Amino acid sequence: MQQCALEKSVILCRSCDLVVSKRALPTGVRALCPRCHTALYDTPYCSINGMLALCLTALIFFFPANLLPVLELHFLGSIRTTTIIEGAINVADQGYWIVGIAVITAAVIAPGLLIASILTQILIVKYQLHNPFFRQILRQLLRQQSLLSQLTMLEIYMISILVSVFQLSDYTDLYFGMGTFCFTMLFVMTIFLQREYDLEHMWSMLDD
Ligand SMILES: [Zn+2]
Repeated sequence: MQQCALEKSVILCRSCDLVVSKRALPTGVRALCPRCHTALYDTPYCSINGMLALCLTALIFFFPANLLPVLELHFLGSIRTTTIIEGAINVADQGYWIVGIAVITAAVIAPGLLIASILTQILIVKYQLHNPFFRQILRQLLRQQSLLSQLTMLEIYMISILVSVFQLSDYTDLYFGMGTFCFTMLFVMTIFLQREYDLEHMWSMLDD
């Protein structure tokens, strides 16, 4: 894995094909090719404190987003509310259990693990926990990182909520509650967190 991290940290200049080894840059600095001065790469967004703030905010929204109703339907005098987990269980009950599992995985489990994983990585890096136990944890988490971010598909769930809102709005009155707000905020925080996060940069922190 050390080997792999080293291979990844080498890039080719776009203009003159010079092989340049990548290094962590200070904030606001751009790396230039030493031969032809073409811009090679910018500072990774990876600011540890920024990511810590995003992680904690996402974590705060995670539980109400999953436990509070995301949709409230008023239909012929009856009120029905549904949370994401109930929605997934309902779908599974109707026989579409693969869809139910996919929803739970993409909208609940994977985002939760992703946030917890990034939070643990940030805490290990921020507090410079250098003992072998924490380094081993960090290495394992970095290896699982791309899988977790691929499984996290809050955007698909967000789109499906919007689609069902537009389709149902002709038939029933729809209301949004705190759950909708928290889910939207969780979605936004996760987008920013994934934009800020840079896997290579995190690997380089392990190498230091
Ligand atoms: Zn060059």
